[in-house]
Amino acid sequence: LGHGSQARTLSLHLAPYGVGQFLMVTRDITQIERLENTRKDFVANVSHELRTPLTVLSGFVETLQDMPGDALTEEQRRHYLDLMAQQARNMQALVADLLTLSSLESSPNREGTPVSVTALVRTALAQAQALSGGQHAFDTNLDETLHIRGQDTELASAIGNLLTNAVRYTPAGGAITVSWEPTPDGGAAYRVRDTGIGIAPDDIPRLTERFFRVDRGRSRATGGTGLGLAIAKHVAMRHEAVLDIRSTPGEGSLFSILFPPARVCPPDAPAAPAQP
Ligand code: ADP
Repeated sequence: LGHGSQARTLSLHLAPYGVGQFLMVTRDITQIERLENTRKDFVANVSHELRTPLTVLSGFVETLQDMPGDALTEEQRRHYLDLMAQQARNMQALVADLLTLSSLESSPNREGTPVSVTALVRTALAQAQALSGGQHAFDTNLDETLHIRGQDTELASAIGNLLTNAVRYTPAGGAITVSWEPTPDGGAAYRVRDTGIGIAPDDIPRLTERFFRVDRGRSRATGGTGLGLAIAKHVAMRHEAVLDIRSTPGEGSLFSILFPPARVCPPDAPAAPAQP
């Protein structure tokens, strides 16, 4: 059946209705069907994402098992073990991100307590700097007193994901600027700007899809799970905020989480009552 330009799926049921009469019930199940397809795609993607590091890992294990004890130099042995540890870390990161996504989807959305975003940014910065290994210049502009009401663990993962992405997708020698400031409308903005590889305009709308990556190889090699921006978008939505992405290929990107004025609160505001 056509409806506008999109095909729709209807289910038809005939039910007895009085003597010699039937009632025809039609239900539009397009949305249900779409959700089911999304779920199937997701399960297929997760299985694929886990199988890749597992295959590499078990390949190395078998190779080492088949080798006589003295066949490898100490350096070669270490090299294989490092590669195996990297695959194990990739799997751990994937499982951790999957658990974060599932808890974002299943836990009730509470208004939360006043969160010092500056404190969260500092922790995330330390991790980003460790990942960078001194290869990027970091600059910060953080408003210590600016607080928002929210969930600190959720906010920490969104804040961290944008920062580690800036490191991953900015070649050595690039600059990363992080800011946490009030916006003219009375809201607040967390911004991460980088001078990295940038993103083509056509790819920008797809970035927050689960497992979408512009360059699968680069994402994997740097430990990316393909879920970071899906998590960041989800966290933003749960805080009535918007994840804004701007980018110019070859010049760099600006990722912002823009919080509405209603979320800004004094540092010592009382906890909001839990919502049903
Ligand atoms: P990943 O774990 O692959 O980084 P994300 O969901 O965090 O997954 O990001 C999705 C994709 O968006 C990345 O694979 C990358 O192609 C692109 N991307 C994210 N952040 C940046 C950035 N700062 N600069 C360029 N590309 C980016």
